[in-house]
Amino acid sequence: MITGSCLCGGVRFELERAAGPFELCHCRRCRKVSGAAFAAMIGVRTADFRLLQGQELIAAYDAPILERPPAYRTSFCRRCGSPVPNPDPKAEWFEVPAGTLDDDPQLRPDKHIFVELKAPWFEITDALPRHDKPALYQLRQQMAQTASVPHNTEVAMLKLDHLAICVSDPQRSRDWYTSYFGFTVEFEVPERDTVALQDDAGLTMFLVKDAERARHPSCGLTFQVADVETKYRELVAAGLQFVKAPQKLYWGYGAELADPDGYLIHLWDEHTMREQSGG
Ligand SMILES: [Zn+2]
Ligand SMILES: [Zn+2]
Repeated sequence: MITGSCLCGGVRFELERAAGPFELCHCRRCRKVSGAAFAAMIGVRTADFRLLQGQELIAAYDAPILERPPAYRTSFCRRCGSPVPNPDPKAEWFEVPAGTLDDDPQLRPDKHIFVELKAPWFEITDALPRHDKPALYQLRQQMAQTASVPHNTEVAMLKLDHLAICVSDPQRSRDWYTSYFGFTVEFEVPERDTVALQDDAGLTMFLVKDAERARHPSCGLTFQVADVETKYRELVAAGLQFVKAPQKLYWGYGAELADPDGYLIHLWDEHTMREQSGG
C-alpha cells in the first residue's frame, strides 16, 4: 500500500498501486500549480485510490479552457495549499501529484512532457524521453487505443503479469527496445543486472543478464503495432535488418526481425492482419 498526504496532514489517502505513466510536465499551468520547474504526476487507476480523510478540506479550481474541455483542474488542501489527488469517480484513471506520496511508488519518471513550454531557467539533463505537445497527443491516442482492450482484464481470470528474457547485455537491449519500439524503462536493478521495460498496455518485460542462456534464445516475442508496414519502413530507415519483410507468414500477416541477442520478434497490426489473412 502506498500512502500520501498534504502538508498539514488533513488530507490523507492510499493507493493500491501506481499504474503510470509517471510524467514530468513542464507546461505553464503545472509550473504555477507546483511552484516548481515541472509537476511530477503519477497515473493511478481510480479503483486503486482511497481517500482516508479530509474530503471537506479539498477544494478545486478550474482554469479557463484554452482549447477544448475538460478544463485544467487543480485540487488542493484549503488549509495548507498542497496540491492533492481528487479523482472524478467516473474516470477510470487520474493523476496523483507525486510529491504528496509518503511511500515509494515503485515507479520512476518515464518522460518529460510539454517540453516546449519549459521554464527558461531550467535545463533538462537526464536521458528520459522529451515530448512536445504534438508528440504527447499522438502517444495519448495510442494509449487510448490499447487501453480499450485491457478494460476487460477486470473480468479476466488470468493476466500475464510480466515476462523475463535472458540477455547478454541488459543496457544494450534496453536501448534497443526503448529506441526502436518505444518501450519505457519501468525500473532498473543495477546490482542484479536487471532492467524492467514496459509496453504501452502496462505489460512488463524483464531483461535479465545471463550471457550463457542468452546464447540460446528460447522464446519468440510478438508485438502488436499500429501499422506493420509503417513500422517496418521506420525501422529499416533506422538501420535495422529484418529476417522477413511484411508478408503472409504461417502465423498470419506480419514481419520478423531479431533483437540484439537473436530473439525473434514478430510484428503485426490488427488492420492488416484482418485484411491480408483472410484470402
Ligand atoms: Zn493540508
Ligand atoms: Zn502540465
